[in-house]
Amino acid sequence: MSKEIILTGDRPTGKLHIGHYIGSLKNRVLLQNTGKYDPYIMIADTQALTDNARNPEKIRNSLIEVALDYLAVGLDPEKSTIFVQSQIPALFELSMDYMDLVTLARLERNPTVKTEIKQKNFGDSVPVGFVTYPIAQAADITAFKASLVPVGDDQEPMLEQAREIVRTFNRTYNVDVLVEPKGYFPPKGQGRLPGLDGNAKMSKSLGNCIYLADDAETVKKKVMSMYTDPDHIHVEDPGKVEGNTVFTYLDVFDPDKDKVAQLKEDYQKGGLGDVKIKRYLNKVLEAELAPIRERREKYAQDTDAVYDMLYAGSQKANAVANETLQEVRDAIGFNYFKNRG
Ligand code: ATP
Ligand code: MG
Repeated sequence: MSKEIILTGDRPTGKLHIGHYIGSLKNRVLLQNTGKYDPYIMIADTQALTDNARNPEKIRNSLIEVALDYLAVGLDPEKSTIFVQSQIPALFELSMDYMDLVTLARLERNPTVKTEIKQKNFGDSVPVGFVTYPIAQAADITAFKASLVPVGDDQEPMLEQAREIVRTFNRTYNVDVLVEPKGYFPPKGQGRLPGLDGNAKMSKSLGNCIYLADDAETVKKKVMSMYTDPDHIHVEDPGKVEGNTVFTYLDVFDPDKDKVAQLKEDYQKGGLGDVKIKRYLNKVLEAELAPIRERREKYAQDTDAVYDMLYAGSQKANAVANETLQEVRDAIGFNYFKNRG
């Protein structure tokens, strides 16, 4: 039996952060290493262009950074096909065909897109490509016939939209060509890591991140500046752990759950200072981040080899996406010249 196919990816709008790691990267590596899947990992540069069209250098420069982050966390090009979205023309023809199966009203209902439009301060100037990116994402997923998509919680509306497109396409053209994708999410409460500032989401665009590439000193500085409980002024005061980002991170990153429970109790009673819990969190984070950082530095010494890897991955992905496109053209009837070439 052929292996179940995975597709997921990231926008090259900056380096990847520990939110990406918890939300998606960690699960990808886990799934990859079971040997039961055929993973496709896409660097979504065309999607990044939807809100960065006038700043293409940012995307160009971030491509290699994201690729290095991938290798650093343990994505392995021998096991996963790592490729670049813009190099796969079939994706854009698929998007175009799917656009005719989705209403404008349906697009405008997507809650994640709504939040992002507000967050990015587009005002009245929302690029068409931005509102339609969930359709493009459906093209990315279906081009590889992926059934499993490891992502953070913010991506559930995209998956729902992709499933609708698959059903509508197969029904409309009376075929069984496209495959419905399922999400693969982190454990409850870990699918959306808050930012250092306590904002609901750590996000490249909000500047509230710990990056996988940050050195130990930078991580420490960021941790020491983290949002805690604004009413916890004196060490002896009782503190709140709900909505306290330091404890949220400890819940996510510390494998020693008993220790975290004890710290919470002490903090709520009063007598445990912010500096102390922050120092402890820094230690916990270092245990996870130090090996990633070391591997990243090693790969960064030969970026030529990384571009070679992306080129090979893109060639392979291109062939697969072209096969699906052919089936889609057959389904619609856009195959006039099939036996002529
Ligand atoms: P941008 O601000 O450019 O949109 P981003 O930080 O939101 O960047 P994306 O490239 O859009 O990152 O997201 C890539 C993947 O990482 C998605 O699967 C998304 O769900 C996940 N992800 C992003 N931020 C977080 C977070 N704070 N917590 C958990 N998962 C996250
Ligand atoms: Mg995003």
